[in-house]
Amino acid sequence: MDSGSEGSEGSECLFCGIVRGDVPAEVVHESDRTVAFRDVNPQAPTHVLIIPRRHEPDVAALAVAAPDDVAAIGAAVADIVTGEGLDDGYRVVFNTGASANQTVFHCHAHVLGGRRFDWPPG
Ligand code: AMP
Repeated sequence: MDSGSEGSEGSECLFCGIVRGDVPAEVVHESDRTVAFRDVNPQAPTHVLIIPRRHEPDVAALAVAAPDDVAAIGAAVADIVTGEGLDDGYRVVFNTGASANQTVFHCHAHVLGGRRFDWPPG
């Protein structure tokens, strides 16, 4: 199974590797439950990914398995908005499933800011 495949975890999962410190990342925020780092392919002037340390494939699975981790992601959003100066507006996205273009199957929130965003999204 490759590093981004659905159901992968532990040594097979790219984002578990970032949690462990085995995979380099520009970490901007950490808590006991989450790690946040800059996306390698940013889609906005600010593009940060927040991940739970726990491996779950998506936010719905995380909510069932560890609801406090979902709350911790929300708290991390608030800290990143303050730290990155996004008070004018920002977007939080959980791409979930293949048809929504999820490519890494370790739950992650995209925090995007620093430009205007259209609605509906593409
Ligand atoms: P998604 O398509 O919603 O699953 O988002 C996965 C995101 O992870 C993409 O925006 C990628 O650019 C990003 N990404 C992949 N590998 C890394 C990495 N090593 N460090 C930081 N971001 C990454």
